[in-house]
Amino acid sequence: MTTETNILTAAAKKPADKTAITDMITDAISEKTAPRILSNYVGGRWVSAQASGLLDVTNPASGEVLARVPLSGIAEVEDAVAAASAALPDWRSRSVGERTEFIYALREKFRQRIDELAASVTRESGKVPSDARAEITRSIEVLEVACAAPMTMQGRILEGVARGINTETIRQPVGVCAAITPFNFPAMVPMWFLPFAIVYGNTFVLKPSEQVPLTSELMFHIFEEIGLPRGVVNLVHGAHDAVNAILDSPGIRAVSFVGSVNTAKYIYRRAAENGKRVQALGGAKNYMVVMPDAVVDKTVANVLGSAFGNAGQRCMAGSVLVTVGSAQTAIMGRLKAGAEKLIAGDGMDAKASLGPVISSAACARIHEAIESGLKEGAELLVDGRRPAGVPAGGNFVGPTILNHVKPDMRVAREEIFGPVLSVMHVDTLEQSIALVNSDPRGNGTSIFTENGAAVREYSRRIEVGMVGVNIGVAASPAYFPFSGWKDSFFGDLHVHGWDAVEFFTRKKTVTSRYFSAGETGKFFVEQGDKQ
Ligand code: NAD
Repeated sequence: MTTETNILTAAAKKPADKTAITDMITDAISEKTAPRILSNYVGGRWVSAQASGLLDVTNPASGEVLARVPLSGIAEVEDAVAAASAALPDWRSRSVGERTEFIYALREKFRQRIDELAASVTRESGKVPSDARAEITRSIEVLEVACAAPMTMQGRILEGVARGINTETIRQPVGVCAAITPFNFPAMVPMWFLPFAIVYGNTFVLKPSEQVPLTSELMFHIFEEIGLPRGVVNLVHGAHDAVNAILDSPGIRAVSFVGSVNTAKYIYRRAAENGKRVQALGGAKNYMVVMPDAVVDKTVANVLGSAFGNAGQRCMAGSVLVTVGSAQTAIMGRLKAGAEKLIAGDGMDAKASLGPVISSAACARIHEAIESGLKEGAELLVDGRRPAGVPAGGNFVGPTILNHVKPDMRVAREEIFGPVLSVMHVDTLEQSIALVNSDPRGNGTSIFTENGAAVREYSRRIEVGMVGVNIGVAASPAYFPFSGWKDSFFGDLHVHGWDAVEFFTRKKTVTSRYFSAGETGKFFVEQGDKQ
């Protein structure tokens, strides 16, 4: 018998109470159609959070509520830390080869389920399938790099630091590690950390963005499927309270964070104050400098991709274009024409070049930023404020170009994190370097030119962590470190590449000698035989 039939049968027995009947039917129907509440994954089990607060997770292309995410707090985080701590002794004592086998298995699963993972990313973050697939592909690349653990985790030894004495440095896991991640890469950013953390023998707690928790949920189902031992990886949903509980938990030894500048600063301070190892990646403002000799068509294509890919919601989005000298006349017309051809729409629609932005609040903030640019004297070269033909209920902003932006305008100072490109014009390479270096952030930058001397000068002097040459603002591959400088990064060790083994292991130095050999000239076994 269905719930509705039960209710109707019960109601028929009490025909007089009409309000109660209506209430019961309404409750039964809403129970059936209510979005499901997500569970945490702790100690190898899916468990309900004790927290009473819930937030809606919506599809940004339609406003449809996909699920409700619990706002976990100290109790849930401490349960996860207890599970991760309990799993640590066994996990770290397994051979590095055995731990690596799990990463190979994950890589296979991610390859087999790439479409499903990408669809999940599109559904909750709005990005178009090519961007979503690229994100999963990069996650697979991280898994592949993590499989090099038996090589990368090796220590060093020096024989004979004194007569008969050797000194060696070995790498050991740090302990329980945690990551706090942003909305714009629901799969890739958690996967920047988790594979390295566990392959080096640590156990792990993830607090994903409360705006995009569903891809993490799917990934944890995959972790469960490959049979990772209980407690090695744990998932705690939530927002600020869960983050603060992580930062204060004595059981957590290392924290990886990715998000906006102010949060990164806060995380860095509070986690470091509590004695934790921290890497905190912040927001960005990435400049693309175009020299007069740049190859026009290729440059325009790269600039458009960088500015509007993922609807500008990338820490590596090219958000400011700086033309040098005659580059202005060479590229502005084509840039405008190119941007006008891009179509905003539901990521699932094959015609869409860019999807929605994450929320209605983000949409309103981006509109406000554009208005402020206009008030402060910028010229609206391409207007994306009211894109045509987009689905109702979604958070859409079309490609927008503001020309003649000045460094003191709000659009130049703030990270807009939407499909808005600010354009500035300068006369010399020197001026472009000074302009980029005057920004407090320094995540990525690109220069477009065929002149090697200009490239050399720019790359050497620019105060930015990642530099692209004739390539849109370029994220480093997983086998190189990824990170910005200045306000885009707080900490010492960057993400992936060789920095991953440095961050997720502690070095121990052992100096040793044995009296039974060398000094007596006799070996223990010979002495033992004689005694
Ligand atoms: P965000 O800073 O709002 O949130 C990131 C995480 O921090 C989330 O898990 C959130 O729950 C938590 N958080 C937010 N405010 C908090 C607070 N006051 N106290 C405790 N926890 C808090 O960032 P977002 O909006 O999710 O992501 C977009 C930002 O991330 C952009 O600024 C973007 O540039 C940046 N980002 C940077 C990189 C990088 O590599 N540098 C990569 C991706 C995104």
